[in-house]
Amino acid sequence: MKTLNVNLGDRSYPIFIGQDLLDDAQLFSQFATSSASFIVTNTTVEPLYADRLEASLKANGQQVIRIVLPDGESFKTWETLQTIFTGLLESNADRKATIFALGGGVIGDMAGFAAASYMRGIKFVQIPTTLLSQVDSSVGGKTGINHPLGKNMIGAFYQPIAVIIDLKTLLTLPKRELAAGLAEVVKHGAIADHLFLDWIESNAAALNNYDLSCLEHVVVKSCEIKSAVVAQDEKESGVRAHLNFGHTFGHAIETGMGYGEWLHGEAVGCGMAIAAELSVQLGYLSLEDKNRLIRIIQTLHLPTKAPQWDTSKYLSYMSHDKKAESGQIKYIVLEELGQAKVQKVDDDLVISTLKVAGAI
Ligand code: NAD
Ligand code: MG
Repeated sequence: MKTLNVNLGDRSYPIFIGQDLLDDAQLFSQFATSSASFIVTNTTVEPLYADRLEASLKANGQQVIRIVLPDGESFKTWETLQTIFTGLLESNADRKATIFALGGGVIGDMAGFAAASYMRGIKFVQIPTTLLSQVDSSVGGKTGINHPLGKNMIGAFYQPIAVIIDLKTLLTLPKRELAAGLAEVVKHGAIADHLFLDWIESNAAALNNYDLSCLEHVVVKSCEIKSAVVAQDEKESGVRAHLNFGHTFGHAIETGMGYGEWLHGEAVGCGMAIAAELSVQLGYLSLEDKNRLIRIIQTLHLPTKAPQWDTSKYLSYMSHDKKAESGQIKYIVLEELGQAKVQKVDDDLVISTLKVAGAI
């Protein structure tokens, strides 16, 4: 087992990464409380992994209550959040209760927000079971739900007390979900560590094949990169924005296609290809490095060809991005592979980029 630390002063927490951690009752003993443990999960993950987690908690004398939610982004809503609160209240959960979020990013975001607001805040532990949640969403403390008028619009910064990553849960993940997680892995290399990007390029086939030691490496590296960024800028007033590389174009594709058509990671893969083109247009990235990044994304079975729309459709979906401030979009571009920066860009240049990328 490897242990990393997210350094946030009195809100610091460990990330444990290893195989079969769900069965490690000793590891879970540190979370034993005088109150109950609540496993928040969904109907897909519960039959796969909840029994093992429950056994490890019970081995430490904990009373365990399960709250099982329907599966899907479309359930990341106020109504589902309310069912978590109902479950907690019906079992008389008190301030010492702990929530264990067992599932992908949807479960982690919702259970985290429930923990942030139930009795003004109870402890929670992230147990991410998708690659995307292991390399991205479980670290950093962004929690929340969707509103019919916008994704992730209601939420809170609320850090877990620990993240427990059992790599073997990835073995049941569908191929498309694995690839979607790899998009965020590539992003970490592209914005922060060109040697890591080299490594991904050399080990792409093994990653596509669920090789656990390769997956361990990308989870460890990604958690290191993300937690270093979060430790510097927890609430995204500066460098944390670099984590949005590929996301402005990606969100436009995701929303424009209708949610669920493209997975988030697929849209980010394609968004990174366009953002790399923008970096070329700005005179930063060489054509050769852009093409190399696109090849890496493709090798991981992610799309790089954007849907073709009117210019106005792209620009309008992009300006709806939450990261736009007073209408002005800040783009994340690459100065070189492994080095990102924030930049305001004239619409003209964005339009010529979309043209070269074949999106309009
Ligand atoms: P998800 O939670 O919907 O999981 C994808 C699918 O895989 C679901 O059907 C799920 O039930 C299933 N699943 C989960 N673990 C499994 C396993 N081990 N084996 C088989 N199936 C499994 O999607 P996701 O990609 O994990 O997360 C996406 C969500 O994360 C979005 O809501 C997004 O907004 C959020 N997110 C949050 C942050 C953050 O910083 N908080 C960052 C990125 C994404
Ligand atoms: Mg993302």
